[in-house]
Amino acid sequence: MNTGLVWHEKYAWHNTGTYAGVLPSGGLIEPYTHADSPDSKRRIYALLETSGVLDKLTKINACPATAEQLNYVHELPYIDKIRSMSDQGGGDAGELTPFGQGGYEIACLAAGGAIQAADAVLDGKVNNAYALIRPCGHHAEKNRGRGFGLFNNVAITAHHLRKKHNVPRIAIVDWDAHHGNGTQQTFYKDPNTLTISIHQNNCYPPNSGFLSDNGEEAGQGANINIPMPPGSGHCAYMEAMDRIIAPAIARFKPDFILVASGLDIGAMDPLARLLCDSETCRELTRKIMNSAEKFCGGNLVLIHEGGYHAPTVPFMGLAIIEQLSGITTGVEDPFLPIIKGQGGMELLPHQEAIIKQAATLVGNIPVKK
Ligand code: ZN
Repeated sequence: MNTGLVWHEKYAWHNTGTYAGVLPSGGLIEPYTHADSPDSKRRIYALLETSGVLDKLTKINACPATAEQLNYVHELPYIDKIRSMSDQGGGDAGELTPFGQGGYEIACLAAGGAIQAADAVLDGKVNNAYALIRPCGHHAEKNRGRGFGLFNNVAITAHHLRKKHNVPRIAIVDWDAHHGNGTQQTFYKDPNTLTISIHQNNCYPPNSGFLSDNGEEAGQGANINIPMPPGSGHCAYMEAMDRIIAPAIARFKPDFILVASGLDIGAMDPLARLLCDSETCRELTRKIMNSAEKFCGGNLVLIHEGGYHAPTVPFMGLAIIEQLSGITTGVEDPFLPIIKGQGGMELLPHQEAIIKQAATLVGNIPVKK
């Protein structure tokens, strides 16, 4: 496979300030680093390079998305507000979304990188692609930034696919540990965009991502949430993939699959309580590639979202890239035995109960006419 990779050094320059985790420092909160520091992303790129796989990938250059492209998802007053805040030193784009001077341009470069990854697949330059971009996007709503994301990269890319390449049916699979609320909002009434989010139940945003939120009007049935209990690990994720996500794609028959690829499903992530690992990422990728091969000629782009444990995230990223490209580096994930050795890795009854309920939603997905 010829796999494309997007990365730009400016992604690491997105400035989330001297926070302590997700909260601003001040009072008795001593300044530390923001949870969304550049480290985990930059270290993925570093491991791709040191493992030798980077040279075998096709580099896709990122150039900024235009305001017109942002406007596919976001309202113009919001876009103007972010641009003007960015020019004046930055601020918070809405909720938990700090950015610094020039943050607008970097966020445009992130959305643009995702768009160009999709273009590269449809222009035949690569078979599939990974857009390693920052800031993330899936929490961003039409008129406010949320959860570290200024603009909804994956939703903008889906609109771009439709407008530029006339792609009729698009499936977006969001395996970030947190609910893809912004993406759900964007396509809630759209029967031609299937949005599936598998996430930790009620983690972030609060009160979001319920089983019962299935889309409305013409989009009824085209949104599936799989709110996994905290502590769900590899086996639960495999089961959800086989019993919900793969059958959902088989029923929907998309022409393109986008993945919101959050690596905060890892067992050591500070911002979620799931127990997945690099092998989970590899298998999720293998399964989604199978679906893409079967139903849309392999058309697949993964767009980076969360993942905040800098030591382990690079090995999850490498596993995905190995699977996408078919290249084996021989690098073994040194954290894997530690994670695999923890308890509760098997599919547990309370996890299966959620999977069983979510699986009943597949039959309501609007079919191709
Ligand atoms: Zn996340």
